Amino acid sequence: MKKINNADNFIRKIIDKDNESGKWGGRVHTRFPPEPNGYLHIGHAKSICLNFGLAIEYDGKCNLRFDDTNPLKEESEYVRSIIEDVSWLGFEWGNEPLYASDYFGQMHDFAVKLIQAGNAYVCDLDPDQVKLQRGTLKKPGINSPYRNRSIDENIDLFAKMRSGEFANGEKTLRAKIDMAHSNLNMRDPVMYRILHATHHRTGDDWCIYPMYDWAHGLEDSLEKITHSICTLEFEDHRPLYDWYLDQLETYHPQQIEFARLNLNYTVVSKRKLKRLVDDGFVEGWDDPRMPTISGLRRRGYTPESIRNFSEGVGVTKRDTVVDVAKLENSLRDDLNKRSPRVMAVLDPLKVVITNYPDNELEYVDAINNPEDESAGKRKLAFSKEIYIERNDFLEEPPKKFFRLSPGKEVRLKFAYYITCNEAIKDEKGKLIELRCTYDADTKGGRSEDGRKVRGTLHWVSVKENIKAEIRLYDRLFNNEHPEKNGDFIENINEESLKVIDNAVLERSLHLGASDLPYQFERTGYFKIDSKNSTPDKLVFNRAVSLRDSWARFNKKVG
Ligand code: ATP
Ligand code: MG
Repeated sequence: MKKINNADNFIRKIIDKDNESGKWGGRVHTRFPPEPNGYLHIGHAKSICLNFGLAIEYDGKCNLRFDDTNPLKEESEYVRSIIEDVSWLGFEWGNEPLYASDYFGQMHDFAVKLIQAGNAYVCDLDPDQVKLQRGTLKKPGINSPYRNRSIDENIDLFAKMRSGEFANGEKTLRAKIDMAHSNLNMRDPVMYRILHATHHRTGDDWCIYPMYDWAHGLEDSLEKITHSICTLEFEDHRPLYDWYLDQLETYHPQQIEFARLNLNYTVVSKRKLKRLVDDGFVEGWDDPRMPTISGLRRRGYTPESIRNFSEGVGVTKRDTVVDVAKLENSLRDDLNKRSPRVMAVLDPLKVVITNYPDNELEYVDAINNPEDESAGKRKLAFSKEIYIERNDFLEEPPKKFFRLSPGKEVRLKFAYYITCNEAIKDEKGKLIELRCTYDADTKGGRSEDGRKVRGTLHWVSVKENIKAEIRLYDRLFNNEHPEKNGDFIENINEESLKVIDNAVLERSLHLGASDLPYQFERTGYFKIDSKNSTPDKLVFNRAVSLRDSWARFNKKVG
């Protein structure tokens, strides 16, 4: 894959400097360390592109490592989905994925080492008491009454913790640092807790589990990571990351923080996304409205569009909210170049061409992609009866309506010019059919005499087509900042999904025909929903409209 981190970012500068000074012997070794407690989202995609991208750029390595230290929330389903999503984005990690749980034994031995050096102790306080005695930013904490246990006693108690002699929460192992430290993370943080729970990989081997801060630096160290890149909220944890590794006098990577990706009209937090799934607000983790990688994939996003977006938003130290339109535009840019164009009528209105031979079926040439000549042409069926989009006709058109209306002539793309003569309605006054005439001299949608028509419509033959269900999506949240002011659930857009069940499509479309979304002429990019489609009934998801309708809307009202 081509190198993707072309934009200048401060992490590259750090790496360049390290390479100059020979700090890591010219090595660059990063990692992406998800906790398998949910599906990956677009924020993770940014971290993946950054970490794997740097490894590609510097001929280094990037590990995929599961940070599976919490048996209560983690599941194998999440592991499987994460592997699938990272591969789909186009990245490789060389070896097998790695698991923090594979290091539980080594972490335990490191803890014993810390106890032996007098730098850790077993504490009997429960979590509430620990919290109470921790102090505040203004007030120092209080030393635990168990802080001065002897090394031997600590060794003995820790062994008993490990062998299961205590109940959940009865004891913890804490680092002995400084209860008056200005950084609260340094006030004797908990390293191990007791949890009698079955782990998705180690089963019941362990009943003590390491806390994140203790585990993470060791994982990085054991894997000989050079640059441990994480998000800004870990900046205050860096002194602790450094302290553990310094005390153990072991290999010591450099932690570097960058700002998380936030998107407007979107939530990116596994916990909140899980709530949307568990409470049935969406169909599942891969619902096309979800900002998960699997949801984006089902919606029609391409790996290229997500990688380009991640690169485009850059890497900074300052928290910002990126406009979700930027993500959508990245997809448009990609699909505009590559996606096959097809005819699809979402809301069909029948047109009868009265002067066209009754049983004739002819084939006109249609261009597959005007942006890519090599995509070639295909044949489209044309007949006396066709469907056009209902909103392409108006009986009493306003001034700048260039589509069809009584007496007006338009071009049917790739076919002929037609003129509307009559609009047929049912008893209730609903428009059911148009009667038009065509000009046989305008084949291919061009006129010999050079006369111009302003409107060009898409269409599908009544004689030869397939029916499909179309799902149109709008933003999942009404509010630009769904997480501000109260519960984000209250900002859910009730109309984020609209289902159309009577669309008609040109016959070339079928399951498995294209992996890429199609451009439906004039209406947007649509991808076959392989989950809900059958050979008899196709379901399409609209990935994105052709243009940013929100930008136009805002212009109008703004
Ligand atoms: P969430 O808040 O969604 O639960 P997390 O940070 O708890 O996310 P992890 O599985 O721990 O999820 O994340 C794996 C990696 O992805 C971490 O290095 C984390 O910093 C990074 N990451 C998570 N969310 C974002 C984001 N919004 N932008 C950039 N990187 C992110
Ligand atoms: Mg986390």
